Amino acid sequence: MDEIIAKIDDPEMLSMIKKIVPFHGYLSTGAFIGLQMLQIARRLLDINEGDRVYVTCETFNCLPDPFQILCSSTIGNKGLKILDYGKMAMTINKAAKPGQKVVKGVRIFLDPEKTAKYPVFHAWYMNERKVPHEEAISELLKAGEDVYTWKFVDVQVPVKAKKDAAICKICGESFIRIDDEDICKGCSTTN
Ligand SMILES: [Zn+2]
Repeated sequence: MDEIIAKIDDPEMLSMIKKIVPFHGYLSTGAFIGLQMLQIARRLLDINEGDRVYVTCETFNCLPDPFQILCSSTIGNKGLKILDYGKMAMTINKAAKPGQKVVKGVRIFLDPEKTAKYPVFHAWYMNERKVPHEEAISELLKAGEDVYTWKFVDVQVPVKAKKDAAICKICGESFIRIDDEDICKGCSTTN
């Protein structure tokens, strides 16, 4: 992996990678893809240091991690939502202004028609054979934004619903209910 890092001369990129590595465990190809997507979104949406960033990621694999560590977009603060579609794609938007119901976002995906021009990387993407992360990331460094396709989308701003707390009839613990149910999900799925 050190050879990869030696190939990167952009100090901003290097400093971001240095934060991703300990957080994610290593620089995976997927985490690097997430980082490139973040760079594209920053440019397209004019995201600046300190801006809140909201991400809907279409896979659990690797892709969300650069956003968690670099943008503090997490599951807990609702900056990160995961749709388990198994796709190298994500939609990114900035925070809505007060009263705004829809906010401009961008959906970016890793485009197989474009990765075809980079055979080693494409083989990694389509899982045709085992490709070491070093080789896949080397190709991505060459490709830059060339392998991504994006379009602007309208993102609905979620309406904050009042939390309806109740005491579960079975376990006696408090839970937030969605309808008028009186048994918590934990008890209703195990009983
Ligand atoms: Zn219960």
